[in-house]
Order: sequence, then structure tokens, then C-alpha cells
Amino acid sequence: MCSSRRAHHPLKQPNVCSACRAVWYCGTACSHADWREGGHRRVCKALGAVRRAAKEAAAAAAGAADVAAGQE
Ligand SMILES: [Zn+2]
Ligand SMILES: [Zn+2]
Repeated sequence: MCSSRRAHHPLKQPNVCSACRAVWYCGTACSHADWREGGHRRVCKALGAVRRAAKEAAAAAAGAADVAAGQE
């Protein structure tokens, strides 16, 4: 589903925000509209940080699991 709040557009050619990769749009028109008018530019940085932290936490958990398995 398109992350723009204008409508639920089908994602024919999904266009992810390259900065945060947390939101998807049906095209560059919707991504630009949400950036300018939907306020995404204000949350994009925070979304990116959250996503990066979650990814690092998952990687750390996977690494810990590997270490634990190696000690068996
Ligand atoms: Zn759209
Ligand atoms: Zn973004």
C-alpha cells in the first residue's frame, strides 16, 4: 500500500524512500508529495535511525546466538 495519505494506491512500481527505506509509494509523484506535504521529511531521519537500530539489534542477537552455539 502506498504510504502517502492521499489514497491507497496499488504499488505497480514500488518506490521506497531511499533515505529511510521505511515507507513505500506507488511512484515518485506520491513520494515527493508526502515529502513536501505529508511531512515525511520531518520523520524520515528518525525512521531511518529506528530502522538502523533495529537492524543492528537483530544482527547483535544473531551474533550472540552464534557465539552461544559455538560454546556448546
Ligand atoms: Zn500513491
Ligand atoms: Zn524516508
